[in-house]
Amino acid sequence: MSRIPDERPLNPKPEVITELRRLLPAASVLATEAELAPYECDGLSAFQQRPLVVALPETVEQVQQIMRLCHRLEVPVVARGAGTGLSGGALPLADGVLLSLAKFNRIIDIDPANRSAKVQPGVRNLAISEAVASHGLYYAPDPSSQIACSIGGNVAENSGGVHCLKYGLTVHNILKLKLVSVEGELFEVGSEALDSPGLDLLALMTGSEGMLGIIVEVTVKLLPKPERAQALLASFDSVERAGAAVAEIIGAGIIPAGLEMMDNPAIRAAEAFVHADYPVDAAAILICELDGFNAEVSVDVMRVRKLLLDAGATDVRTAADDAERLRFWKGRKAAFPAVGRISPDYYCMDGTIPRRQLGPVLNRIAELSAESGLAVANVFHAGDGNLHPLILYDANNPGELEKAEELGGAILELCVAVGGTVTGEHGVGVEKLNQMCVQFNSAELTQMHAVKAAFDPKGLLNPGKAVPTLHRCAEFGAMHVHHGELKFPELPRF
Ligand SMILES: Cc1cc2nc3c(=O)[nH]c(=O)nc-3n(C[C@H](O)[C@H](O)[C@H](O)COP(=O)(O)OP(=O)(O)OC[C@H]3O[C@@H](n4cnc5c(N)ncnc54)[C@H](O)[C@@H]3O)c2cc1C
Repeated sequence: MSRIPDERPLNPKPEVITELRRLLPAASVLATEAELAPYECDGLSAFQQRPLVVALPETVEQVQQIMRLCHRLEVPVVARGAGTGLSGGALPLADGVLLSLAKFNRIIDIDPANRSAKVQPGVRNLAISEAVASHGLYYAPDPSSQIACSIGGNVAENSGGVHCLKYGLTVHNILKLKLVSVEGELFEVGSEALDSPGLDLLALMTGSEGMLGIIVEVTVKLLPKPERAQALLASFDSVERAGAAVAEIIGAGIIPAGLEMMDNPAIRAAEAFVHADYPVDAAAILICELDGFNAEVSVDVMRVRKLLLDAGATDVRTAADDAERLRFWKGRKAAFPAVGRISPDYYCMDGTIPRRQLGPVLNRIAELSAESGLAVANVFHAGDGNLHPLILYDANNPGELEKAEELGGAILELCVAVGGTVTGEHGVGVEKLNQMCVQFNSAELTQMHAVKAAFDPKGLLNPGKAVPTLHRCAEFGAMHVHHGELKFPELPRF
């Protein structure tokens, strides 16, 4: 299956393969069908495309040479970390080079005094925390894919995770990047100090989805491990009540280290998979983790417990020990693969809404799900208002994938309609191009294209991703909703 919503005309230049073989060892240039197959998609497997060639450099100089070559020949380049992205950001182009950073897997330097570490972009997220654990430190952003995803991919997507509610997204946890420009120049953004003068290019590069430069080194901030972490698991008989409890906790001035919600289909799937002792009859559960100094955590646990009960929780369990705390998280962390066991395929959406809208939006998602005939399981970062509806479908049933995409689009447009955004942490990639037309007007998209052109005038870095053309938006049908002001009638305003 080849589904590429990319508006570029193809212009294959096979000579790039010969030239790459002059720059890299033979084993680092892959061009046979069998060699290309593992790279044909990322975590959004509904979109597949084999690249013209895969290049696997292992030095910064090689990345520079590849970029100079591609710039001269005008060949597009798609960077790839671990390929766990869920929006098709690393989807290859049929006439492009797929530039894998997999061999950039070294931790270059750990600086415990400065609480920072310099790492290559292909280092796995979890490997950073493992490497600094003996210093009593860790790297806070923890995507559920952290066992596999790369820090370069995390930066390119501005990834989040359970602990981002308290500790911030990737952008808040990095100090400096080294990048290679589309012309092959090496440059740095950010600094090892807390602030650096000039335009904030570090923030601009974070979340730029491989469109502005190739990340070849990341300096991350490290945090001291908290003295104590304690988790509570609350059951609810309605998703509205669970949603309201989230708003109550944050409204009371408590910022948990993690505050996650799962609805009944997700609870059942996770329980069947990892036996976390979840209440399978609950309409929703909240898992709330509090961390910090011992005394502070003890007080907050009591406060959160009361808030949960006052908000209508039917049961609140406090983990008796670390083993139970980890069991609470086991089901949440395994929820995506757990849902993968109960449905041939699932489509993971990622939208963000104001927390007070959690209940009404989850109810509306249930209605949209019933209308489309496709089941939806919800498991998400409730404290951030970051929804992850998992739409269950079977790609072998004709038309079902399209139906899933339609439902996903309607859910994202619902998020915008209530004042939210079309992505919380998974990026836009190829998946959410149409919904970007809903969120941004033509003046805003024009500014984004201007920034892209300043870094990449020939449009060679990951073209066709993340920012839709105005032409595409016009074809999609002027559905722009600005700052939650509903301009089209299909969706209710909450
Ligand atoms: C089971 C599962 C759970 C997940 N949970 C979460 C979660 O909790 N939170 C979350 O935020 N995400 C989550 N994700 C999504 C995904 O893991 C993240 O987006 C992750 O950051 C992608 O990293 P990667 O190394 O796999 O990047 P890839 O998928 O390889 O690439 C992602 C994007 O980054 C670009 N890119 C990669 N490396 C570079 C580089 N060195 N220079 C420039 N551009 C680059 C690519 O071109 C692409 O646009 C999950 C995915 C799965 C499969």
